[in-house]
Amino acid sequence: MKAPSNTRMDADYLLVGGGLQNALILLALAERQPEASILLLEREDALGGNHIWSFQTLDLPASAMGWAAPLIEYRWPGYQLHFRESSRWVEGVYSSLSSEQLDRVVRQVAATRANIRIQTGATVASCDACSVTLSDGRVLHGRLVVDARGPDNGARRGGGYQKFVGLECRLRQPVSMSAPILMDTRCAQRDGFRFHYVLPFAEDRVLIEDTYFSNDPALDVSTLRDGIVAEAAGLGFEIESVLRTEVGVLPMPSFSTFSSRHRGPLQGGYAGGWFNPGTGYSLAAAARLAEHLSSVPIDAVYGPAWRRLVRHIRVQSHFLAFLNLLMFGFFHDAQRTKLMERFYLLPDDVVHRFFAMETTLVDMWRIMWVGAPWTPKGWGKRAACPSD
Ligand SMILES: Cc1cc2nc3c(=O)[nH]c(=O)nc-3n(C[C@H](O)[C@H](O)[C@H](O)COP(=O)(O)OP(=O)(O)OC[C@H]3O[C@@H](n4cnc5c(N)ncnc54)[C@H](O)[C@@H]3O)c2cc1C
Repeated sequence: MKAPSNTRMDADYLLVGGGLQNALILLALAERQPEASILLLEREDALGGNHIWSFQTLDLPASAMGWAAPLIEYRWPGYQLHFRESSRWVEGVYSSLSSEQLDRVVRQVAATRANIRIQTGATVASCDACSVTLSDGRVLHGRLVVDARGPDNGARRGGGYQKFVGLECRLRQPVSMSAPILMDTRCAQRDGFRFHYVLPFAEDRVLIEDTYFSNDPALDVSTLRDGIVAEAAGLGFEIESVLRTEVGVLPMPSFSTFSSRHRGPLQGGYAGGWFNPGTGYSLAAAARLAEHLSSVPIDAVYGPAWRRLVRHIRVQSHFLAFLNLLMFGFFHDAQRTKLMERFYLLPDDVVHRFFAMETTLVDMWRIMWVGAPWTPKGWGKRAACPSD
């Protein structure tokens, strides 16, 4: 739907929600369409909430590195996994950025461009294809509205949750860790499949997360917080102080929530299903949407490139959601640990494509076969040729 030609435009792009998705779109547009006017509306005072976002650098399309690279705060050469009976090193740059970094970089870009405006403290009540109504009744008009108001606004369709409490800690004794631990499952298993996740930001500063793949979204934050402090020594960390607490309950749906409507506002980010149902992570899909919007003229957003992208994300999203259906519907808690161990028998490139939502048909077959508990483990090992 187009706005009537006599309507006063507040911006070409009206970006609703100043989280990860719209921050990526803004940065991509700023680089590729410097003439475009952008108005970003965020209800809070800062952009990006309170997160550490991590991703494999391969999750980003190579063409996105120009606008996305300034966001990256930490880089490691790969990551480690520990299971009860095996360990695994996955090669490939792993990166992280914080909400503060996202806020800083986006504001820096906006500060240098008169045609990019950020309005914080602006709560949006409703969106249409070309207009936005704020909670104070003001109506703003744009040529394209991208509604990315985050997970709270998204539909849920079965499956389970990746839920976690993370503590960013100052350490009493420095540790030498050259890479993150993506999964350490050698902890007491409860409430689904449980593991620790560790990001080493500096010798004396780490993020330790207690994570669960569970059917139940409930999270007892203070108990888990105390648990992390109590278990830290066993993981090799002496905590001096807790600097920050991060909490997440990410839906892992068993049916895709991906929305590709051509009517109304463009539903982006988590709410539009632009995330990996198999991990609950959204950076890879959000970057692809940002790439698309910045690569086509605003009047051609829903052209052939959009249809190709939508088809691709839909297939990936359905497959990954199907894996959730199996994991949360058919495997009990103890089997999920085995399932994960099996999955990481797969070669690095298959793992990378799984995270990046680039899984090929052959990968799908390998994930279903090598990664499944019904396949002899030896066969999987031979197929995987893991590097360690
Ligand atoms: C703690 C945590 C850690 C995560 N870690 C990772 C990770 O490591 N890697 C990864 O890829 N994914 C991660 N995710 C998942 C996913 O990337 C995030 O949820 C991501 O932030 C989703 O992006 P988004 O833009 O859709 O939503 P959000 O980033 O949540 O942004 C939505 C924004 O909209 C604003 N908003 C909401 N309603 C309104 C309104 N009515 N008016 C105006 N503004 C509004 C919110 O304040 C928010 O700023 C994590 C999620 C959480 C919660």
